[in-house]
Amino acid sequence: MDVRDLGSRKRVAFNVSFALMIVALPTSTFYLQIAFLHHDAAVVLPGAGFWSRIAAPTAGSVGIFVSWVAFQALLAAALPGRRVHGVPLPDGTALAYRLNGLRAFAVTLALALLAVLAGWIPATILYDRLPELLTTANALVLLGCVWLLAFGRRQATPEERRRNWLEAYTVGACRNPRIGGFDLKFFCEARPGMILWVLVDLSFAAQQHTIHGSVSAAMIVVCFFQILYVADYFFFEDAILTTWDIKHEPFGFMLGWGCLVWVPFTYSLQPLYLVSHPAPLPGWALGLVVVLNALGFWIFRTSNLQKHRFRSDPKRKIWGDKPEYIKTDDGGRLLFSGWWGLSRHANYLGDWLMGLAWSLPCGFGRLLPYFYPLYFAILLIHRERRDARHCARKYGADWDAYTARVRFRIVPGLY
Ligand code: NDP
Repeated sequence: MDVRDLGSRKRVAFNVSFALMIVALPTSTFYLQIAFLHHDAAVVLPGAGFWSRIAAPTAGSVGIFVSWVAFQALLAAALPGRRVHGVPLPDGTALAYRLNGLRAFAVTLALALLAVLAGWIPATILYDRLPELLTTANALVLLGCVWLLAFGRRQATPEERRRNWLEAYTVGACRNPRIGGFDLKFFCEARPGMILWVLVDLSFAAQQHTIHGSVSAAMIVVCFFQILYVADYFFFEDAILTTWDIKHEPFGFMLGWGCLVWVPFTYSLQPLYLVSHPAPLPGWALGLVVVLNALGFWIFRTSNLQKHRFRSDPKRKIWGDKPEYIKTDDGGRLLFSGWWGLSRHANYLGDWLMGLAWSLPCGFGRLLPYFYPLYFAILLIHRERRDARHCARKYGADWDAYTARVRFRIVPGLY
């Protein structure tokens, strides 16, 4: 979509929504953090006193954040990894990527453990400096997106250059900005944000230990679920290359800020809540939550793998049978075996069930620990609609035939 192709009223509405996003999204990260740290995760009406809790960046927090991103960039550039090509671009070429995410994740965890055991840094460092780190991350990433706008413009296609500067800042000036062979979107999509999320979680677990003398089962369960999610992401790193973000999204504030700030600081809110509420659920209920997470993980992983593997090997069996699909006019294939025959995005359902399982260990005393599954449901419903529009445009009558066969969007039998 290009905002310039819209009528003038819609164009204004889009530009206003971009400006609102740039202001409202970072503000919401401060709101959530202050509510969790100072109001026991209650939904409060923020006054001037509330916002005065926003911490100023410090030399230490700037040093931590800058060296963190630089260190991850160094690992991405220097560690060995499989070289693979992404999906073909509109001009017929395909970009090369180096897959070394699992190694970068393992090296980072090992070094963090060493630094803590050797006494170089306290295990709670990220908890201790959380407020100043959030301000620093917001400020530096918002500024970094200005640089990205200027840099991305130089690599943009004529079509992408039609975006006005506000749209280009928000959604991105070009699809795959690269410094030499270093792909900025692929790097930011996963490395600094996802790995930082895990370290923030572990720092919260350490803080719980400092306060209560032990780490609760609820904290262990939630940290384990989230570490599993991140490890799985890196284990199947090549599958990232066929996701919507990598294939279709330009790289700007939305993805860049989303991955570098939103993910580590809001996806870790449940462990933050558990720091001061170590065991809101009885053991048997935690057992059920483990089952729910396992179910979500199974749906998420197997559905994503079915499509990913089908794309490279359309003969590979799915649930013991030959895959069924529609051969599209443009030479593509729309799968309707396995999960892809039960709903058009069962992978979203699995992902959401996991998100719910990360919040349930926080019990039912507060709404805000459920922020992630609530926000994620909106994101996934919106994403599915946008993907459906993309597929309808791309596949035309073949997409209609597919949707006539597979009636449900996300939840088989329900939605
Ligand atoms: P998908 O991996 O489902 O990819 C959608 C694309 O797959 C479509 O655009 C189309 O691409 C192709 N496609 C759709 N239907 C079929 C079919 N029946 N057969 C073959 N190809 C098909 O979506 P996403 O990239 O949005 O999500 C990937 C994963 O990432 C999901 O599990 C999601 O939950 C997760 N995710 C997690 C987020 C988080 O913050 N935790 C955020 C966003 C996503 P084409 O043009 O190639 O045909």
